[in-house]
Amino acid sequence: MGMGVAGSYLMARLKNDHEVIGYERMTEEKHDSICAWGSSKPIMDELCKKVGINFEDYVIHDGKNLYIDIYNQQKFEVKLKGLVTYDKIRIIHDMIKECEVHYGVTPKLEDLEKKFDLIIDATGFYRMYLPKPADDFFISTYEYKVEYENEVPMDDFYVKPFRGFTGYFWYFPLGKNIAYIGAGDYKKNHVKATNDFLKKYGGKIIKTVGRPIRLASPEMCEPFFHGKVVGVGESIGTIYSLLGEGIIPSMICVDIFIKNIGNNEKYRKEVLEYFAIYSKVLKFVRSKMKGEFSYLRQFMDLFSIYRYMKKNEDRFGMEIHLRDLIRISKA
Ligand SMILES: Cc1cc2nc3c(=O)[nH]c(=O)nc-3n(C[C@H](O)[C@H](O)[C@H](O)COP(=O)(O)OP(=O)(O)OC[C@H]3O[C@@H](n4cnc5c(N)ncnc54)[C@H](O)[C@@H]3O)c2cc1C
Repeated sequence: MGMGVAGSYLMARLKNDHEVIGYERMTEEKHDSICAWGSSKPIMDELCKKVGINFEDYVIHDGKNLYIDIYNQQKFEVKLKGLVTYDKIRIIHDMIKECEVHYGVTPKLEDLEKKFDLIIDATGFYRMYLPKPADDFFISTYEYKVEYENEVPMDDFYVKPFRGFTGYFWYFPLGKNIAYIGAGDYKKNHVKATNDFLKKYGGKIIKTVGRPIRLASPEMCEPFFHGKVVGVGESIGTIYSLLGEGIIPSMICVDIFIKNIGNNEKYRKEVLEYFAIYSKVLKFVRSKMKGEFSYLRQFMDLFSIYRYMKKNEDRFGMEIHLRDLIRISKA
């Protein structure tokens, strides 16, 4: 259920050994991926190889620098190591192109239960087929796809955290003269920030989208399974909340599901184990958002986030420096 990044990757991984049928609530023509389409090339290469897809063919913009513009502080640059934008919807469609997929439908759970051995809830934020998460947490987002006639406002990735780091505005390039501009904010300044940027730099809006993004970590999103339904991806909180980044974690969640298919309890344990650091990251993010962050009290948490990210620079597609995390924590 749900042909997003998790559902489509799952279909592609299972299609040779199982009878899999996909359902997507959007019609085929309107089916899109509400996202800024940014991810890390080295890891996407590896994941896509598992389903015979050459990720390189989908890359749109290969980043060199991420410009960070912190309120009332100096702007600084983070050197990139593989952060790209890619054609996310084309890859989703290519992953499911040999599969049976029904678009524009949302079947009832009772009907699915009669027909299938397993029902996978990959409906992302909506989590349509599982009970409500134990302790949900999400923020609203808003985004335009913008086309520029002449000069583009930025030549690379750009983010501007909101005051107090309650969220951030992003500019993600999509080739020569197109970009995603958008924002997510706990204090709900996301629409204003996006419109302010549009007003300042101009551009023609090609598309307007928005949806809440779940920041709750997997630990807060139990149950992961109920009856015949098992959740994968954002439906069970696989978002790295510091960046609002869910593509790679959702695909990794699918890998964990496949490894443990048929053993829900083992799947649950492995997800909790793999994503344990996400709870720590969310604790930091949430305390910033609520204005409760204490640099002294929470420095060790911040340091373990730094150590995790430093060890996984390829995974995040950028160089990680403690001084940058400290700058953000003091924003
Ligand atoms: C504005 C925005 C920007 C983002 N930018 C990035 C980014 O640059 N990089 C990154 O890594 N992450 C980003 N994310 C997060 C990332 O998009 C998601 O975490 C990730 O796509 C989750 O994948 P998923 O397959 O679990 O869910 P989704 O991608 O949300 O897919 C769920 C699918 O299920 C369908 N669906 C919903 N309800 C039903 C139903 N009842 N029946 C059938 N189908 C249904 C939906 O139409 C959708 O196709 C962004 C999120 C937002 C909101």
